[in-house]
This record gives sequence, C-alpha cells and structure tokens, in this order.
Amino acid sequence: MNDPLVDKRGRRVRDLRISITDRCNFRCVYCMPKTVFGRDYPFLPRNELLSFEEIARLARIFAAQGVQKIRLTGGEPLLRRDIEQLIELLAAIPGIEITLTTNGSLLPQRARSLKAAGLQRVTVSLDALDDAIFARMNDVGFPVARVLEGIAAAEAAGLAPVKINMVVKRGMNDGEIVPMAEHFRGTGQILRFIEYMDVGSSNGWRMEEVVPSAEIVARIGAVHPIDAVVPAYAGEVAERWRYRDGGGEIGVISSVTHAFCGGCTRVRLSTEGKLYTCLFAQHGSDLRQLLRDGRTDDEIAAAVAGIWLARDDRYSEIRGEQTAAQKKIEMSYIGG
Ligand code: SAM
Ligand code: SF4
Ligand code: SF4
Repeated sequence: MNDPLVDKRGRRVRDLRISITDRCNFRCVYCMPKTVFGRDYPFLPRNELLSFEEIARLARIFAAQGVQKIRLTGGEPLLRRDIEQLIELLAAIPGIEITLTTNGSLLPQRARSLKAAGLQRVTVSLDALDDAIFARMNDVGFPVARVLEGIAAAEAAGLAPVKINMVVKRGMNDGEIVPMAEHFRGTGQILRFIEYMDVGSSNGWRMEEVVPSAEIVARIGAVHPIDAVVPAYAGEVAERWRYRDGGGEIGVISSVTHAFCGGCTRVRLSTEGKLYTCLFAQHGSDLRQLLRDGRTDDEIAAAVAGIWLARDDRYSEIRGEQTAAQKKIEMSYIGG
C-alpha cells in the first residue's frame, strides 16, 4: 500500500461510499420527493453506470491509497441486479470492510446471498414504527413490518450488528423518537438518529424542520437515562450514548448542528463514476472517462491523489440559508 492520502487540513482518506444505482423503490420526502422524482424523471441509462469491473478496479486503486471501508449505497443498492457479484469482487480486496446501506425492503429475500458473497454488515433505514407515519415518509406506503423482517433476516444471516438509521423531520416523525428508541433498546441493534440535511436541491429543506441531536438526546434521556460514550476513534461521525441500565446504545449524527468536517475521511463515487469529496459538492471529477480512455492504474491513482490533496471541503461549517439554496448533487445519485 502507498502512504494514505492526506488533504490540506490533514484529513486522510478512509471511507469510500459507492452509489451503484440512482433508482429507488421508495420516494422518501427528504430524499427523492415524488414531485421531482416522478414517472418522467430522467434516471441514468444503463451504459452510463459504472460496470462492476470498473467499480472493483477503482476500489482496488482506493484501497492502495488508504481506503479501509467501502459502503455500497444509492438510490436503493439492492435494486442493482446481481449486486452479489460486485460484493464478491470487492471482498477479494485485502483489508477492506464491506458494508451496505439499504431501505430494507428487499433484505428478507437477499440477506443470506449478500452475506455469502462477502458483505460484512448492513445499515437499514427506518424512520418510524407507526405505519401511517412511515408511509408518509417513504411516500409509497411501504409497511414497517416488512422492514423489520429485513432487519431480522440480516441479523440471522450474520450481518450484525445491524445499524438502523432514522432521519428525523420535525412535524413528521419526531413523535417516533422515543418509540423507536424503546423498540431497539436491548436488541443489540444500534439505532442512529440523523438530523435532516439540506442535501440535493429538491427536498425543500428548512432549518425549522431539523430536530437538533441535543433535543433528541434530551427526549430519550428523560425516559431512559443515557450517558455519552467516548468516541472509538478520532473522526467518528455518530456521537454515541449508552443506556445507564445496560439497554445498549444509540447514536446521533449531528450533521447540521455540530459540523464534523474537521474529521471527514469520506470520499464518494457516484453512480456514473464521478468522484465527490463532499456530500454537498456541486461538482465531481469524472473517473469513468479515465477508465474508458484506457488510462493505467497509476495514472488513475495520480488523478485521485490530486483530487484528495486539493480538497478543502467544509460545507457543514459554513452552512447557511445561502448555501442551502445552492444547486447541489442529489443524495440518490451520490449516495448517503
Ligand atoms: N436507499 C438506501 C437507504 O435509504 O438506506 C440507501 C441510500 S440513502 C440516500 C442513504 C441514507 O441517507 C439513508 O439512511 C437515508 O435515510 C439518508 N438520507 C437521505 N436523505 C437524507 C436527508 N435529506 N437528510 C439526512 N439523511 C438523509
Ligand atoms: Fe430511496 Fe434511500 Fe432515498 Fe429513501 S433515502 S428515497 S429509500 S434512496
Ligand atoms: Fe465531509 Fe462535506 Fe459533510 Fe463536511 S459537509 S463532513 S466535508 S461531507
């Protein structure tokens, strides 16, 4: 392995997130609102997507430059056909942990084959336990029970510990904070509350709709006392809290109220092979062109190094009304 890449602010590259499809069977109001992602939305044609071989080649180049963890995401990654084949290719890269973020809808039938292919863990997104509230969040009327089945299937397949992501949007599902905490307490599954973010340009984000993590912690702590846990490593994105009575832990991801850009080690590869060094970037660098132009691994590695070394991202530190209104890349395209 070469020396890990380190950017201008001393942040080394560690996590690679790969969006493998821009499509989804949900229409979450905070991510792919139906008004924008309707029937006529121009999703990418198949030949625009990176092939599995192209993704694996880039993953090997990143691994040689310091990446230790790959997360497959999207869109809904389980909609990409034969994803198990991609996981097998990635699992062959030494020293890389492979994880996936999913809405859980297809996990009941896929958890075992994903594990067999070499997937290590999954994060499942679930925003409510109440069916009516969940249906309003995902906007396709998908039942909670089916996602819970997916979580159980993942655990049974050995994709544990399963993490659960809940995006909290005030006035929509904040009443579910305590019920969700109580549901997952004592299960070994780790619930993480995510502040609603101004990703993309289509969710109509407003600051008033963000429920600050401090409020989430206070609401849970008032019912079940919790203590802060010391971070496992510098740059850990989720702040961890542990139930005093031994009921396990929760996490809060304060992307809006407590910027963690100073420790941001993530790089993102979009569905069509553009590289983004920030979730809120307006522009990416086209790696697919380099792959399809027949460049060597060394040439691509040099291009990647140049991009990371020049990185100066700090969106969450400077977020304001003006930045929220900027045209940004959609979450479903760049991956969460
Ligand atoms: N479809 C998969 C899923 O929902 O888990 C993977 C892709 S999704 C874009 C990845 C993560 O981003 C999910 O946990 C989702 O809840 C989160 N997410 C999407 N839009 C968000 C927003 N506006 N603010 C905060 N989190 C968001
Ligand atoms: Fe689909 Fe995930 Fe976005 Fe929801 S958050 S619309 S499940 S990509
Ligand atoms: Fe990293 Fe950009 Fe998020 Fe800051 S805003 S933590 S630089 S992805």
